[in-house]
Amino acid sequence: MDFEQIFGASPETEASAPGRVNLLGEHTDYNDGFVLPTAIPQRTTVQLGLSQDGQHHFYSVELDERVSISEGNHTPSGFASYIFGCVRLLEREGYTVPSVNLHVTSSVPIGSGLSSSAALEVATLRGLRSLLNLDIDDVRIAQLAQQAEIQYSGVQCGIMDQMASSLADTEHMLFLDTRSLDRQVIPFPSGAEVVVIDSGVPRTLAGSGYNQRRAECEEAAHLLAVKALRDITDPQAAEDLPEPQRRRARHVITEDNRVLEALQGVSAERFGELMNASHASLRDDYEVSVPALDTLVAMLQETPGVFGARLTGAGFGGACVALVAAGKGEAISREVMERYMRSGYSGRILVPEVS
Ligand code: ADP
Ligand code: MG
Repeated sequence: MDFEQIFGASPETEASAPGRVNLLGEHTDYNDGFVLPTAIPQRTTVQLGLSQDGQHHFYSVELDERVSISEGNHTPSGFASYIFGCVRLLEREGYTVPSVNLHVTSSVPIGSGLSSSAALEVATLRGLRSLLNLDIDDVRIAQLAQQAEIQYSGVQCGIMDQMASSLADTEHMLFLDTRSLDRQVIPFPSGAEVVVIDSGVPRTLAGSGYNQRRAECEEAAHLLAVKALRDITDPQAAEDLPEPQRRRARHVITEDNRVLEALQGVSAERFGELMNASHASLRDDYEVSVPALDTLVAMLQETPGVFGARLTGAGFGGACVALVAAGKGEAISREVMERYMRSGYSGRILVPEVS
């Protein structure tokens, strides 16, 4: 149902924001390191108007759910918490936010690791900026979006997702130093586009595996007498550590170096090699891959027109990302998906958007 059908009036303004995928720099963010996400074509769109009854009303097309919030009500749960969090964060910045009608619709897959949550927050803040003529820049929007997710939805997220949604587009990558928050929007390797395929394997062990890796990295940093592994640039420095800290540290150090090399503006071929090396490192040193991800990555890497591929996200399931020759994303992803399904798996093409 559209805005008029839900709220009985036309929207006053509209804004949108994309989902994202991380191309390089995995498991580096909690080591104060470097990441390199890009925006995906799928976007979340919000339409807004002023509410006449003193209550906020939020509606999501995807969930077909409407939530109303009156002044003094407790923080809502579910999707409304992300939107309400954005409203509250703006109020804490000193802005007066009137009651609004807000309609959400999105083509970003929800819960697939492409950051539909950040797209929802950034679109909401952009919509409120437009409705209320707020003087607030895109970096601040990303920071408020992150705080909305942490404080109102209870998700302890880093700032990569919101920065990528707010600052990147599909032709640019966002280099982000997760310690200093220094950032740079850099062009995509020329002649290349992104493919993302969901392995169909749920990320069941992701939570416990993630916490264990974090702890191992902290131990490694402690043994090496640095604040975080990002402070080390030479992988040799990790060689005297006990296992598994040695291999965990080696992944983080080499992964940071791969991001820094990509930041120099490498060719699509070289970028692909860096992605392949990243996958090997995540598989062998970081041990966060599973057979389905290795199978899917190998199939992608073997396909003509693919520069490189790796698992993306925390691992233990979830999606793979590949860099492929521009214009070939759809054909390549369909071909690989057919092969992957014939091996007994069931996956899904997430990028490019295919019907
Ligand atoms: P991801 O960000 O990887 O897609 P998350 O679990 O972080 O997964 O965020 C998904 C949540 O974000 C959903 O459960 C919902 O609460 C909210 N959300 C995202 N997109 C929408 C949408 N279009 N409509 C309503 N809620 C949405
Ligand atoms: Mg999310």
